[in-house]
Amino acid sequence: MKRTPLTVLSAALAVSILLPGTASAAKIIIDPGHGGKDPGAVGINGLYEKTVNFDISKRLQVSLEKKGHQVLLTRTSDQSLSLSERIQIVSSMKGDILVSVHANAHTTKDAKGSLVLYYDHRYPQSRYPASSAMIDIWEESHKLAEAVQGALVQKAGTVNLGTVPSAAYMVRMGDIPSILVETAFLSNPSDAALLANESVRQRMAEGISEGIDAYLPEPEQQAKKPSAEGSSGAKGTKDSASFRDMASHWANDSVVRLKKSSIVNGVDSRFLPERSLTRAELITMMERAEALEDREAENGAAEDAASSKKAVKPAPVTIESARSKLLPYKDLLDNHWAYKPLSVAALTGKITGFPDGSIKPDNTVSRAELAVIVNRYVNSRTAKSQTGTEASSTAAAKASGVFKDVSTDHWAGEAIGHLNQIGLLRGTGTGRTYDPSRFVTRAETAVVIDRYLTYLQTNDKAAKETK
Ligand SMILES: [Zn+2]
Repeated sequence: MKRTPLTVLSAALAVSILLPGTASAAKIIIDPGHGGKDPGAVGINGLYEKTVNFDISKRLQVSLEKKGHQVLLTRTSDQSLSLSERIQIVSSMKGDILVSVHANAHTTKDAKGSLVLYYDHRYPQSRYPASSAMIDIWEESHKLAEAVQGALVQKAGTVNLGTVPSAAYMVRMGDIPSILVETAFLSNPSDAALLANESVRQRMAEGISEGIDAYLPEPEQQAKKPSAEGSSGAKGTKDSASFRDMASHWANDSVVRLKKSSIVNGVDSRFLPERSLTRAELITMMERAEALEDREAENGAAEDAASSKKAVKPAPVTIESARSKLLPYKDLLDNHWAYKPLSVAALTGKITGFPDGSIKPDNTVSRAELAVIVNRYVNSRTAKSQTGTEASSTAAAKASGVFKDVSTDHWAGEAIGHLNQIGLLRGTGTGRTYDPSRFVTRAETAVVIDRYLTYLQTNDKAAKETK
C-alpha cells in the first residue's frame, strides 16, 4: 500500500533534522529488545538478552537525558511486545530517531564484537520491503549507524564488526531514522562476560549516547542572526540572561558571558551543557570569539587614536581564497553549515586535515584535541616567544608533571602544558589528571573559551600599558 502522507511526513522529519534553524534537542526513542515471555538470546553464562537490553537501555536513557534530550522507551518493564506493536508505538511517539538495543548470538562461539544494523536501500530485499518512509530516509539511518558504531566500540572496547545493511523489521518499517544495536555476543564467553559486567554496560550505553550525539545537529548550528543594534530591549535582557538548563550549573557564569557575546546559541533556550561537540561546533565558537576580540581591539584603537599598537590580526581570509585552497578536503563541502568558519580556521592553520585528505568536520572533539586547537588560536594571537623545540618540550614536560595521564611525549602534551601554564586549562577530578582522550563537553568548552577571552583582554591591556 502506498502511503503518501507518511512519505510527506517523513520527508518533513528528515528535513527538520538536516536543516539549520529548525533543529532542537532531540526526542529519542529507545526500544529495549525482547521482554516478557520472549527472553531473546540466552547467554553462555545464563544471562537473558531481554535483561541486558533493558539495563543498557535505561543507562542510555539517563545519559541522553543528561545531555538535554527527551527520551521515550517502547517498554518500561519486562513486557511482551510484538515487532509490529513496537513500530506502532514508535510511530505514535513522534520521535526524531529510533535506537533498538539488542545483544547478539551465534551458533559458533567464536563470533564476538559489536555491530549496528540499519536499512540500506542500495540492497533492497523484495521479500522484506521497507516502509516508503524508510526508503526516503535510509541514508539518515546509515549516518546514525556509523556514528553509533564508532563511538560504541571506542567506548566499550569491543571488536568492531561495522555497520550492517539489514532487513530487520525494526530498522526497516519505521518512519524515522532507525538503527538496531547489537552490543556484543551472548554466545561468546568473553563477550558474555562483558555483558555481565555493570561498568561495561555503562560504557556501552555511554558509547551509544555519544554516537547519537555526534549524529544529531549541533546546537551552534542554530545561528541566531547576530542581534541587530537595539533589537534586544530591556525586556529581552532578563530573558536572555541564561539558558533554562544552566540555572545551577557550575559553568553558568562563563556560558552567560558567551551568550551575551553571541558566541554560543544553544537550542530552544537550552545550552545542553553535558553534550559533546564536533570540530565544526568548536571552530564556530572559536571563530566567533576571534571576531569579538577583533571588534573590541578596533574599538580600543578608535578610543586611543594615537596608539600605534595594533592587535596582531591575521590577514582577512575570503571565502573565495579559502575555497580554492580547501578543495583537497574531501569531506568539507560548501553546503556544510559551518563551511565558512571551518574554511577560515583551516586556512589560518587552526585546524589541519587528516592523512586521508579529510578534515572530519562532524567528528567529536576530545579534551586533547580541544587543547591543541585552542593553543593554536592562543599562539596566533600572542608573541611567538613560546616557539622553538625547547619551549615546546618544556611545556610538554610541565603537562606531564601536572597531569598524571599526560606523558611528555603525548601528542597534545605541549598544548596542554602551555594552556595550563597560562591558566586556560585545569585538570579533572582532583586536578591531577587531564583525561585527554575523553570527549569534551559543551560546558567545559565554554569555560575554556571564556578564559581565553579574559586572557586576550588582559594581554591587550598589558600591551597598551607597557608601551
Ligand atoms: Zn535480540
